[in-house]
Formats: sequence, structure tokens, C-alpha cells
Amino acid sequence: MITRSPAHLQRHDEAKPLALPPAWQAQLAGAVRDPAELCRRLGLDATWLPGAEQGHALFEVRVPEAFLTRMRPGDPADPLLRQVLPLDQEAWTTPGYVSDPLEEAAHTPARGLIHKYHGRVLLITSPACAVNCRYCFRRHFPYAENSPSRAQWEATLEHLRRDASITEAILSGGDPLAASDRQLAWLVERLAAIPHLRRLRIHTRLPVVIPDRIDAALLDWLGASRLQKVVVLHINHANEIDQAVVDACARLKAAGITLLNQSVLLRGVNDSVDALAALSERLFAAGVLPYYLHVLDPVAGAAHFDVPDAEARELVAGLREVLPGFLMPRLVREIPGEGSKTPL
Ligand code: SF4
Repeated sequence: MITRSPAHLQRHDEAKPLALPPAWQAQLAGAVRDPAELCRRLGLDATWLPGAEQGHALFEVRVPEAFLTRMRPGDPADPLLRQVLPLDQEAWTTPGYVSDPLEEAAHTPARGLIHKYHGRVLLITSPACAVNCRYCFRRHFPYAENSPSRAQWEATLEHLRRDASITEAILSGGDPLAASDRQLAWLVERLAAIPHLRRLRIHTRLPVVIPDRIDAALLDWLGASRLQKVVVLHINHANEIDQAVVDACARLKAAGITLLNQSVLLRGVNDSVDALAALSERLFAAGVLPYYLHVLDPVAGAAHFDVPDAEARELVAGLREVLPGFLMPRLVREIPGEGSKTPL
């Protein structure tokens, strides 16, 4: 008879468990995708909301649980809900509102690459988002034509290697952090091997809508890169920032990453001095500096969010009266063909 020694038992106990997908991926997969379900969870009668079902045919709902829990139950005007629940407004056609408002199709020299500005390029790193935002200027973007395979990434990387004027790579999407850590580590390692690249910028909403995305695996590859790292979050309202978001920001800062935020000025979401001031204050308390306040890009289906320029300027003037200068975001518009954002 064979008797197992304690050492055998110990080895057995230490056997590696089957690898589970990271918690954030389960949350991504479990996001609410049905407008009726979203309304039910918030105690709202979908029949109060004109066109919730029809709007869904034009714009898909996707709301992770962690974001949903920050919405006010029973309030159809909740500023977070307004950003994600499509209504009959999605079907409005408004002159000047088009599918590619920033004319990005004219600036894609390689698959997945947008090169509009001097010194920096934008890489469409993931076609997926963790949340679908109704005002997004890429809501009609042809992601299927701009999702490179690894072999196609080589051509994109070659564009960066050949142009020594490019010093900054911006990972965008979709949401770049919707890609797996394996894919991102592969890409960032290749970017860091390009000697003239200095900075890596990541435009993401994932740390906000699924704070668990900022986990040890992500911090490993991001923290290890020689490139200077900047994460530009996208938060439009103070209610988006709860303790889990604050903690995710703290993990990024502890890894030496600079945190900035960009917002979009949205009718019914943040179009008041009080809302914008509260956002700046809460961002700074979380270690994030307000960076840009964008006026709406004229993307088809989102005209109902527009705040006219004169009103936007008045809001910013009011904001200046209540905030210190370092908490003031810059009010800008992106104009196709311009070499940078245009201050308003
Ligand atoms: S790209 Fe950003 S703004 Fe657009 S839907 Fe995705 S998360 Fe929202």
C-alpha cells in the first residue's frame, strides 16, 4: 500500500487552480443590454420614456452593474441614465449632424491608426466599450474596418517607427482597456521599443464604469513600461465618481501614472455651473485634474445634447468665479482639419 507523505499532500494542495477570467471581464460580459431591464432595475416604467424601445434599435444599451448602481432609482432625468438610455431622440435627423463629424476616415494611413496632429497618433486598440454613450462621436465608427490583426498591427507600428516626429502614442477605441491584458502588454512592449516614442496616453472610461479593471495584471504591464504614462479618464458628472472609482484612481497614481479627465458638455447632464464645479471638485479629490470640457461633436442622433457656444462660454465664466484656476477644464471644440483642439 502506498502511503502519501505530507510533502505529497502539500504539493497536491499547491496545485494551480484552473485560471478564471478576471473579475472585470465577467462584469463586462454581464452588463445590462436591454433598455426595459435597465428601467426595471431603476424602478422606472419604460412607458414613461418616449421611444426607449425604438431608440434601442438605433443605439444599443450597454451598462455595467457598477455604473448602474450609481444612478438614482426612480429618476428618469438622472444624469448618468441620460448618457446611456436611448430614446426617440436617437431617430431625430438634424442638419449638420453626421456619422463621422471629425472626418477621421480621411486620416487613417494604416489600419487602426489615426494621424491628425503633429507628434501624436491615435491607435484604435479595441472596438469594444464597457458602456455605450449616446453622445459618442464614434457611435457610427466603422470599427470592423479598423480592428487590426497582429500582422496588421505590424504595418501600423512600422508607420510609427518610420516617423521620428511621433513622440506620443494614444490608445483609444472603443475603449482600449476593453482589450485583454495579454494584447495590451504585447502592443505596449512594441511601442516602448520605438526609441523616439516618449509617452503613452490611454483614453478610457473603464476605470469609471468598471473600477475592478484596474487590477494587478493591468498595473503589471502598464507600470513596467519605460514610457511616461498618462491616463485620460472620461467622466461627465460628479455622481460617476464613487469610492470604487476613487480607489481605482489611487491604484493608477501609485503606479506613477498621471491622471487627467475630459468631459463633454451635455444638455440635461452637466449644463450648470453647480454640476461642473462639483465634477471638478470631486475629480481633484480623487487625484484627477480636469483637462478638457468638449462641446458636443455633431454626430447623428445626439443633437438633443447640444449646448450652444454662447451658453457654454457663460457656464465657463460662471465656473471661473467659483473654482481655482487649476480646476478649470479648457472649453474646446474639435474642428476637422485643424492641427489641435480649438479653444472656445
Ligand atoms: S468611446 Fe468612450 S464615449 Fe464613446 S461609447 Fe465608448 S466609452 Fe463612451
